[in-house]
Amino acid sequence: LASKLPAVGTTVFTRMSQLAAQHGAVNLGQGFPDFPCDPKLVDMVTEAMRAGFNQYPMMAGAPVLRNAIAAKIGALYGHAYDADSEITVTAGATQALTTAILCCVHPGDEVIIIEPAYDSYLPTVELAGGVPVLVQMEVGPEGYRVPWERIAAAVTPKTRLLVINTPHNPTGTVLRQADIDALTAIVQGTDILILADEVYEHMVYDGERHESMSRHPVLAARSFVVSSFGKTYHVTGWKVGYVAAPAPLMAEFRKVHQYNVFTTNTPMQHGIAAYMADPAPYLELPAFYQHKRDLFRAGLADSRFELLPADGTYFQCVRYGAISDLPEAAFAEWLTSEIKVAAIPVAAFYQGGTESGIVRFCFAKQDDTLRQALDRLARV
Ligand code: PMP
Ligand code: GLN
Repeated sequence: LASKLPAVGTTVFTRMSQLAAQHGAVNLGQGFPDFPCDPKLVDMVTEAMRAGFNQYPMMAGAPVLRNAIAAKIGALYGHAYDADSEITVTAGATQALTTAILCCVHPGDEVIIIEPAYDSYLPTVELAGGVPVLVQMEVGPEGYRVPWERIAAAVTPKTRLLVINTPHNPTGTVLRQADIDALTAIVQGTDILILADEVYEHMVYDGERHESMSRHPVLAARSFVVSSFGKTYHVTGWKVGYVAAPAPLMAEFRKVHQYNVFTTNTPMQHGIAAYMADPAPYLELPAFYQHKRDLFRAGLADSRFELLPADGTYFQCVRYGAISDLPEAAFAEWLTSEIKVAAIPVAAFYQGGTESGIVRFCFAKQDDTLRQALDRLARV
């Protein structure tokens, strides 16, 4: 069979988790919590099953959940999405991203992707017949920055879509008002659409706010805004997410969605809708994860790892040049097999495997897990 994705292998997350298991390493590689979700959420899903919510929901998702999502976005970001025509529940953020790309990218259309980039964007653009246009973030002593002037220069009449990810995996970078202004200046007056991956929307630290595209009317009018309950409620295995977009965009999204998955599992949707009645779990998330970030950073402060800023997400990037001159993948494998702590090479987020001497740790772990990892890392 002629492969449609000849350059694609098994994802780095799967490979590093397997390696961590093989070596009995603390797995700070693949991003997922090692602690349970709120038992109340499990009860609410169980109750939904017992109450008989076990057949197909509506194609776009259970109305109770779409209403809860629209209300949350309205309260947090001030944009009133119509739950009937502008919100769709998806099988995790990944399906929302894939479906959004498939519904709007025509063969030959250019899609601007900012590297390092989450690994699903580029292959999906290729499956759609689109042409990925890669622009690399700049990384200096102050951390990573989006070079808006280079993004502006990458725009052509064929540019159809710009993929934005804030807070950003793997760098932890958070877009701020100046970024939003630069982005607005680039897209205003064009027909460029935005695919905004905001799965870490509730993980922004130090009192800063998340700049959702839905806060900014010029951007919201052309954006698919994607989020994931897996991240927000510590249930990555449930694979429930959503997309919000203006009705004309959503109509196209649903044409693909109905033949891609048709709909998303029913009891999770009802359970999550009930759980969303209380905003505390997501409002408390910044403090919850900031504690873990600070614990992890404090533990590495006197080590030979150099910490980069970590303003959002549950990832911490570090330079390891003072320890080793191995390429990133080899260094991450060495850390896993010899030091027994797994990490992700940031080079895996670049199509060309660009090396910056940086690896990513996930701190969405119990404090004891983090302490165990820190004990090992401090000795490197
Ligand atoms: N986007 C980013 C930036 C992510 O980190 C992840 C989770 N790894 C996803 C999308 C996918 O989210 P989900 O598990 O809900 O499909
Ligand atoms: N988003 C997670 C990460 O970046 C992994 C998801 C996956 O395994 N595909 O680590």
